[in-house]
Amino acid sequence: MICKNCGKPTAYNSTITRTYGKGDDLLVIEDVPVISCRNCGIDLISAETFHALNKLRASVEVRAAKRLVVVVGYNEAVADVITNANIEESGVAVA
Ligand SMILES: [Zn+2]
Repeated sequence: MICKNCGKPTAYNSTITRTYGKGDDLLVIEDVPVISCRNCGIDLISAETFHALNKLRASVEVRAAKRLVVVVGYNEAVADVITNANIEESGVAVA
C-alpha cells in the first residue's frame, strides 16, 4: 500500500511494541497494529488504534496481568557487554 509519509508503495501492515512510563509505572503493550514502511522506516498508528491505546492505558490497572519485565539501560548494558565480552567465544577474530 501507499505510505502516507513518503508516498512510495512500500507500506505494509505490521505490529510493534509500545512502552509507556518507566520503573514501577512501566507499561509495555505488545502487538500494536501499525502501518510500517520499508522505504522511510516510519510506523504509523491509526487514529482508531491511538484512541484504543489510550483507553487501554486508562483501564490497564483493572485488567493487567502482571508480568515480569526486564528493562535494560542501553548505555550501561553496552558498556557491560563490551567489558565482559569473551571476544573469542563471540566469534570476532582478534590479532
Ligand atoms: Zn514511507
